[in-house]
Amino acid sequence: MIVAAHRQDRPWSGETVPHEQQNLPAYVDDCYLCPRNARVGGAINPQYDGVFVFDNDHPCVGLTAPADLSPATGINQNRPAQGIARVVCYTPRHDLSLAQLEQTEIENLLGAWQRQYTELATHPGVKHVLVFENKGDVVGVSNPHPHCQIYATNFVFKTIEIEAGASARHLLQTARPLFQDIIAAEQKDQSRIIGENDSTIAFLPYFARYAYEVYVAPKQTHASLANLSDAEVQSFAAVLKETLVRFDNLWQMPFPYVMALHQAPTDGGDHRGFHFHIEIHPPLRKPNLLKYLAGPEIGGGNFLSDTSPEQKAAELRALPATHYSLQSQ
Ligand SMILES: [Zn+2]
Ligand SMILES: [Zn+2]
Repeated sequence: MIVAAHRQDRPWSGETVPHEQQNLPAYVDDCYLCPRNARVGGAINPQYDGVFVFDNDHPCVGLTAPADLSPATGINQNRPAQGIARVVCYTPRHDLSLAQLEQTEIENLLGAWQRQYTELATHPGVKHVLVFENKGDVVGVSNPHPHCQIYATNFVFKTIEIEAGASARHLLQTARPLFQDIIAAEQKDQSRIIGENDSTIAFLPYFARYAYEVYVAPKQTHASLANLSDAEVQSFAAVLKETLVRFDNLWQMPFPYVMALHQAPTDGGDHRGFHFHIEIHPPLRKPNLLKYLAGPEIGGGNFLSDTSPEQKAAELRALPATHYSLQSQ
């Protein structure tokens, strides 16, 4: 991670991204996620009222993924990627984002994510449950209906494997969970914290790679969301909502991001040092300017950031905690 905040004002004459359209209807008759509509493959969505989970009709990883791979030759290796892929609709409302849901609706969603993790972990061969939301045209999502995906797989995704390894080493060496030391450092510094209550904290990490990268975490170490108490879930929902509202308020537009729940693998290993958190990776640096992965990132393997996390945290902290769509005109 390299910070070069002095380059922020360099001239730009490259590609920009148009603001995404607002004013969506509450129901769209050809949306495959709206209630009562048909999905690809023929299934009909129920008249659901709240969170709705279904098996992905076109999974990237599925139980039917081909298991007979041609053997790799020489130095190459392969193995079949299999699992269960699901889609989670946050609400029947086509026109709302996660940021716009009521606190209780977000609590219900967190409850659904808890149950999915717990249930999927019991499936034979499932070593990890990845819950993620891709939001916005710029991250390739054409359907704005608020939803996320779940991949329960027979392998552990790379970033989680690295985090689990680092957490285990840190616990062994210091007897403290790694994330507790990260939170303590953020609380001591204060400058990158954007939201906090009794049991949850949101901050741009010291090592943020994207301009507006934010972590939301419980203050107590829990290996997964499933281990949070009801009170912690309520507290977590409040900070998550406030964070997403600030994002939307930043440029008064639906803020695109990739959001992922980082939870301990379900591979039977010892993950006591793993600390559940949500990472939000917004690809925009400015209202209409994408962060491109280029020479330093793809060619060299380190992120180069033109902004400092302290500046960006201050920007987000200064914004109202009420969604712009509800603020009086
Ligand atoms: Zn819809
Ligand atoms: Zn993480």
